[in-house]
Amino acid sequence: MIIDFNSETSRISSTVYDVAIAGGGPAGITLALALATTGQRVALLEGGGLAFEAVSEDMYEGVSTGETYYGIASRLRYLGGASNHWMGRCGSLDDIDFQSRSYRLLPGWPISRSEVYRFGAHAARVVDLKGFTFRPPSGRSLRSSNFRLAQFDLSPPTRFLSKYLAPLRRTPTLDCFLHANLTNIDANIAADRVNSFTVRNYNGHVAKLRARRFVVALGAIENARVLLNSNDVMKAGLGNLSDFVGRCFMEHLDVSIGRFISTNDGFWGRGPVDVSPSPELMLKHNINNGVLTLAPAASPQEFGRSAGLKRMLRHGACTFEATKVWGRKLYDFDCPGDSVITTMIEQVANPRSRITLTPERDTMGLHRISLAWHVDVRDLRSIEIMATELAKDFARQDIARIQIAPEVRNRTIRDFGLQSHHMGTTRMSRDARFGVVDADLKVHGIANLFMIGSSVFPTGGGINPTFTIVALTLRLAEHLKTKAA
Ligand SMILES: Cc1cc2nc3c(=O)[nH]c(=O)nc-3n(C[C@H](O)[C@H](O)[C@H](O)COP(=O)(O)OP(=O)(O)OC[C@H]3O[C@@H](n4cnc5c(N)ncnc54)[C@H](O)[C@@H]3O)c2cc1C
Repeated sequence: MIIDFNSETSRISSTVYDVAIAGGGPAGITLALALATTGQRVALLEGGGLAFEAVSEDMYEGVSTGETYYGIASRLRYLGGASNHWMGRCGSLDDIDFQSRSYRLLPGWPISRSEVYRFGAHAARVVDLKGFTFRPPSGRSLRSSNFRLAQFDLSPPTRFLSKYLAPLRRTPTLDCFLHANLTNIDANIAADRVNSFTVRNYNGHVAKLRARRFVVALGAIENARVLLNSNDVMKAGLGNLSDFVGRCFMEHLDVSIGRFISTNDGFWGRGPVDVSPSPELMLKHNINNGVLTLAPAASPQEFGRSAGLKRMLRHGACTFEATKVWGRKLYDFDCPGDSVITTMIEQVANPRSRITLTPERDTMGLHRISLAWHVDVRDLRSIEIMATELAKDFARQDIARIQIAPEVRNRTIRDFGLQSHHMGTTRMSRDARFGVVDADLKVHGIANLFMIGSSVFPTGGGINPTFTIVALTLRLAEHLKTKAA
């Protein structure tokens, strides 16, 4: 049943649910349906409604204090979450992403790849993929031990609101409350058990939602934010035993790494190519994972708040041959029609890259966030080594000649594009000293509180996160049905 908490305020406190879930994005909706269809009594709280509303969206505003980050408010705050405008690119993390690697300094995943993707076939159905086998596009091959063709598939893309509204409405044991904002996680005095969620609508009405188990699925920024705001019994924020709540914020870096000239028409005839470093290359150089996209005759992209200005300068510089030369000398412009290389590079988990709270509060009374996003020297090194190895590899194979941008070679990149993949702020770790949730996604030290979403990723790998979020969600559903007390 769908209930608008702005107008119907009594039902939310009239039942003790088996599971209360906050957040109606891909994670929350998948979990609610997976549990309710097996008879569990489930409440799903969604802070927005069934369409974009400025008053809800405003709650996502925050400030960026590290590297300029213009993706804080790139999310959508209504039922379906960011899936209302995601691009649908899906893939799975590699085995190497789950391995412990000493240069990373923090422990990696406490579970194996096969444990996550036990739920791969089911996750594929959730996002309307034909199956759970990600392959490179057919008809292409790469003779290289350093790079492989990236493997992914495209969801239509599934809009969780349109696809799952009817099931949310008709599942008898599921109550989905709209305009129902989680504003506090109410723990007992020992901070080892949650008693209720405090929920608030847009007319100032406040209610307590009671359940046996509680799950937070608000996306990686809000997952950390609500724990930090819930500081009535733990001053540092609920679950913040080891000061890891909000730390290790990770993105996928979109960097213009250079231009290329194709030397093999047969290879480039099918358009852009996506390649990833091989596990051997990553291990040999201690570098991150990622995807490099080589697009022949591309339209270059601009990033950041000054994108409009950069577009104008680029247009001016690229119009004439003489100014093009100078434009490139001064700024290394890629001009329209150049063959350019862009990226989606993993970041190492870096505790300095961090979400904290500002004194300013939103209309629900929650402190807004400050994001100090940092790009580590290990990330810059990874980008430089990947670019250099790719240039050598493609020259050796006579596929292309690559010109690497000077700031990539010098490791002085300042202009980072991003993918709106927010990860890592409540990281999973077997040892409570290095994370927030355990291998079952239960918050360390709290018996009945679970987190889900890419906030729990200890590493981000070189692939888009949503397919893995959905697989992890289905694994959590199994745990809550069968094992959790
Ligand atoms: C432009 C764009 C393109 C993308 N493209 C891709 C792609 O191609 N492939 C890919 O894998 N990923 C992509 N992503 C990322 C993808 O959208 C996210 O990984 C995914 O939506 C995360 O799902 P989630 O349920 O964890 O969080 P969200 O989708 O953020 O959902 C969180 C939900 O919680 C609700 N909420 C927030 N605060 C509260 C509160 N206090 N109380 C109650 N409810 C609240 C929100 O309204 C929302 O419905 C893209 C993202 C963007 C922005």
